[in-house]
This record gives sequence, structure tokens and C-alpha cells, in this order.
Amino acid sequence: MAAISIRKLVKRYGHGAKAQQVIHGVDAEVHDGEFVVIVGPSGCGKSTLLRMVAGLEEVSEGEIAIGPRVVNDIEPADRDIAMVFQNYALYPHMSVAENMAYGLKLRKMPKAEIDERVQRAAKILELGHLLARKPRELSGGQRQRVAMGRAIVRDPQVFLFDEPLSNLDAKLRVQTRLEIQKLHRELGVTSLFVTHDQVEAMTLAQRIIVMNGGRIEQIGTPEEVYGQP
Ligand code: ADP
Ligand code: ADP
Repeated sequence: MAAISIRKLVKRYGHGAKAQQVIHGVDAEVHDGEFVVIVGPSGCGKSTLLRMVAGLEEVSEGEIAIGPRVVNDIEPADRDIAMVFQNYALYPHMSVAENMAYGLKLRKMPKAEIDERVQRAAKILELGHLLARKPRELSGGQRQRVAMGRAIVRDPQVFLFDEPLSNLDAKLRVQTRLEIQKLHRELGVTSLFVTHDQVEAMTLAQRIIVMNGGRIEQIGTPEEVYGQP
């Protein structure tokens, strides 16, 4: 079954005469457990598409389903997804552990289960020794791992990544990319990853969606899209 189904999706920003259409009827499916990367030049609509899957932008026309459920009218918090952002979006006044626990507390999860999930995520991401620190006391790579930890504790059906590596220096970018690969191997969570970086797409993707001008230009394996390495 498809983990994400996108049907005849249209997005317009603004209203009336000022409306600007930026997604022009996109159809795509992401299979259960699959790692799909959306690539394309800046401004082609990648982030808008991902944000609609996350529920952070309204759908103008068409349909998005996560699993069997159409989510057009479902709040972001009630979708079975977790998003990892480019700028980490951590709360500066909270510790690493509190940052990871926050979303679960909002959902009124029992404390024992929250602690267990935070510990498990910290172990996967090797953050155990940093749980009491504040974000400002962490390196960029550590902050991005906390952002991933916050996604993991939700135990979602789908991970959404919005250019999570683009604020990291070259070395950390490679390291964090390997961590994301390991994460996908270990947890097997369906992943939709947006980037403008061809190397990221080639190394992470099982399938690549190439976007241009608000449309899908091509969908295929890295070999099909970029040729044999
Ligand atoms: P990408 O992620 O591929 O760089 P975006 O989805 O950010 O592309 O943007 C696609 C187009 O939509 C661009 O022309 C951008 O300027 C426009 N856009 C993005 N967000 C908004 C917004 N909130 N209001 C109006 N236009 C927007
Ligand atoms: P990204 O690289 O993630 O697309 P941007 O710097 O393009 O980030 O956009 C940052 C924020 O501004 C996003 O929330 C996006 O939706 C919004 N945005 C982007 N383009 C426009 C635009 N033309 N008008 C209004 N908001 C925009």
C-alpha cells in the first residue's frame, strides 16, 4: 500500500487577481518504507509540496492521503508524520530532553512512556550525554540530531525532511546524511526528503522525483534519473 498518495495536487498562493499558482496538478505515490527524494531548482515548489503533506500549507485542489486516510482537512499534529526542518526549529529555553519530549507532553502521553521514547531516540542518535544541555551549547550537527530525535519520538508513519543538511558544513553534511541513512535502515520509516543537492538525492533515494516549475518532470531510481555512476 502507498504510505503517501498525492492526487491532482494544485497550490495557489494569494487570492483573486493576485493568486499565483505554484503547483500545477502533481500526482505521486510513496510506498511503505520507501525513501523518496524530491529534487529541483530553487523555487520549483518542493518545499510547498512537502509543507502540504505536513499540513503546514493548505491544499488548493486535489488530495493528499497518508496511508488510507485523506488528510486535507487534518491538523498537522493529528497527521501520522514528523518533520525535520532545515533550521532545526528547537526551543532555545528547553534542554535537549525537553525539546524531544515537548510534542509528546502536549499529547498528554504518560511520563514513563515519554521518558522511554526519549531514551530510545537518544540511544539511536548517540545523544545520551547531551540530554541536559540547551541548544545553544550544541554544535550544528548535534542540533540537527536533536531535531531528528524530536521526529523519532513521535514514532510516525512518515518522516518529512525539508533540506535538513543545507545549514551544515561539508563534513557534517556527509556525517548527518549517513545518520539519516542508518535511521532509515534501522527504523524502516517511509521518508520524503526535499533537497536541491544532486549528491544527496543520489546517495539517499530509492526513488527520485524531479520537479521543475511546479510540475513533476521525472520519477525514477537514481540510475534512471542520473545515469550509471
Ligand atoms: P522550493 O522549495 O523548490 O525552493 P518553494 O515551494 O519554496 O520552492 O516555492 C515555490 C514558489 O512558491 C516560489 O515561486 C515561491 O516564491 C512561492 N512561495 C513559497 N511560499 C510562498 C508563500 N508563503 N506565499 C507566496 N508565495 C510563496
Ligand atoms: P526554503 O528554502 O525552505 O524554501 P525560504 O527562505 O524560501 O525557505 O522561505 C522561508 C519561508 O518564507 C517559508 O515559510 C516560505 O513558505 C515563505 N516564502 C517563500 N517564498 C515566499 C514568497 N514569495 N512570499 C511569501 N512567503 C514566502
